[in-house]
Amino acid sequence: MSECLFCAIAAGDIPADVVHSDDRVIAFRDIAPQAPVHVLVIPREHHDNAADIALADPDLAAQLLRVAGAVAAQEGVADSGYRIVSNTGEGAGQSVGHVHFHVLGGRGLAWPPG
Ligand code: AMP
Repeated sequence: MSECLFCAIAAGDIPADVVHSDDRVIAFRDIAPQAPVHVLVIPREHHDNAADIALADPDLAAQLLRVAGAVAAQEGVADSGYRIVSNTGEGAGQSVGHVHFHVLGGRGLAWPPG
């Protein structure tokens, strides 16, 4: 099994509540949701963070954002508003070193975030 948690989820080795799956991207519910809608969108291929994937594979980076928007619509928060977040680095709270976009919605979201 992969040492990367999200590579293992993408491979189906660790179960997840998947809400979107295609040949390059999957999206699944966060195990510790911070909002009524909290979905993680990840590439199947390993990249460490958002900036890295944007440099290495801009089409895939864009596909992550397209899927994030589709998930927001599917989850019913596209009209009320939602947030896409990608924590990068320990100081920003990144706890899994495989790029992921959090899609958060279904409640008021404070700005600036903590
Ligand atoms: P971050 O801290 O920004 O790197 O986000 C990682 C996210 O992954 C956190 O919100 C965790 O709750 C979530 N997470 C960790 N393990 C799992 C898992 N097995 N399934 C779903 N979400 C997970």
